[in-house]
Amino acid sequence: MQTSSNRKKLVIGNWKMNGSSTANASLLRSVLPVISRFESVEVAVCPPFPYLTTVADLLDDSDVSLGAQNLSSQLSGAHTGEVSASMLHDIGCRFVLVGHSERRALYSENDDLVAEKFAAALRAGLIPVLCVGETLAQRQGGETEAIVTTQLSAVLKAVGIQDLVKGVIAYEPVWAIGTGETATPEQAQAVHRHIRQWLADEDRAAAADCRILYGGSVKADNAEQLFNQPDIDGGLIGGASLDAMSFAAICRAAEANPTTESIAI
Ligand code: PEP
Repeated sequence: MQTSSNRKKLVIGNWKMNGSSTANASLLRSVLPVISRFESVEVAVCPPFPYLTTVADLLDDSDVSLGAQNLSSQLSGAHTGEVSASMLHDIGCRFVLVGHSERRALYSENDDLVAEKFAAALRAGLIPVLCVGETLAQRQGGETEAIVTTQLSAVLKAVGIQDLVKGVIAYEPVWAIGTGETATPEQAQAVHRHIRQWLADEDRAAAADCRILYGGSVKADNAEQLFNQPDIDGGLIGGASLDAMSFAAICRAAEANPTTESIAI
């Protein structure tokens, strides 16, 4: 059965722990004139916490949205060093990354905590970007689909399918993040397809509308091939989002490959 989709391409720059007031202003001065002009692509950037408000001001006259890289699962109170979902919403964030592999690996975030963060983001009116993906050993062991399904299932169990698809899913194979090693368009499409089918088993219409981004060493020269895959709805971009020319070219590749076709699920 064919189901038509309403998915607008989305490109999100994850600046990670990089930047300074001067560097951020200079990057945005170069890139905003290009990336503010798109019709069929939504663009967002996720600076480190200290720069969120100044970047919000710099984005003010553009269509580019603001996102954060992390949030607390807690609402408020005695959680020194943490930042709540409502604070992020208050300062103008639209998106927040949840369960990035660097948080899972370096800061011991497990599936349950990620699910709590996802729920906290939604409650505050943010759009959580749920990152899932397998390590190289897991891929080599044939576990890719099982790992991704387990990561998604924790969030499904916590919030249910209707709330899960209020977020965005980012498939980010861990072996491709920051390594220069990119999944081939076929490898990425196969996992995106699996994720959409898994969503469709819960709710077909929700699956058709849910945006699934690819992340992992997306560059100007591979973005186009990735973005023209039928189940790839844009990208989560790390290193290349810090370079104005590269990020602009990646956004242009998304604009050139709008999601127009129906998908069979
Ligand atoms: C990321 O940080 O989510 C990412 C995909 O990084 P990179 O593009 O540098 O691989």
